[in-house]
Amino acid sequence: MIRNELKQAGLNLIIKRKKVKHINLRFITAGELQISIPFTTTDQRIDEALQIKRDWILKCQQLLIEKESKVKIKPDIFILMGEEFHIEYDPLLINSCKIDKINKKLINSFKIVSDTHRAQIYKYYAKEYLIARTFQYAQRMGFKINKVRIRGQKTLWGTCSHSGNISLNWKLMIAPEFVIDYLIFHELLHTRLHNHGAQYKKELRQLYPRTDEAELWLKQHSQLLKLY
Ligand SMILES: [Zn+2]
Repeated sequence: MIRNELKQAGLNLIIKRKKVKHINLRFITAGELQISIPFTTTDQRIDEALQIKRDWILKCQQLLIEKESKVKIKPDIFILMGEEFHIEYDPLLINSCKIDKINKKLINSFKIVSDTHRAQIYKYYAKEYLIARTFQYAQRMGFKINKVRIRGQKTLWGTCSHSGNISLNWKLMIAPEFVIDYLIFHELLHTRLHNHGAQYKKELRQLYPRTDEAELWLKQHSQLLKLY
């Protein structure tokens, strides 16, 4: 059904009955499409209109996602799990950095945090956090997995092989916790279902209710993959 397809593309449909003559579609954000309809319009008629406009809707949404792209790297800010940490320099620290979670600071031994250095910090936290979290969820939800690796692919957030080896992109450490968890569940479910078919999508939504929200975040931040 067209409404499901649009919902799965991360689009919320807001239907408003109004004093209008025709069905009008208007994007509010990349995640919200407002449909103004005359008072007498049937659900079937709405579906037909959406079906006709399907390609246009998806194309517009893609353009909006790119336009609204939320990827902005500020030189004095380090983002970890969706939270901003102010970068501070401490010459007494030698070749290291530490995170002060209470005061939201990243205290650092280098005056300038280069991209390479940022990547190193993310990789360190990714190894510490993502691997343990994935095994924890696998055990809790009854998924059989083999190895979990941390990688830095330019096009993928994660993968799962037929033998149950999961790889997760360290750039996920920039994302909020609910997005990280979504990706872990996404890959875990691939140990049972190896495609993104209707059955997979249905089970993923049952397993992880914030799926649509997380997928939209990943779309809006897809440029992060290419950053480092
Ligand atoms: Zn997948």
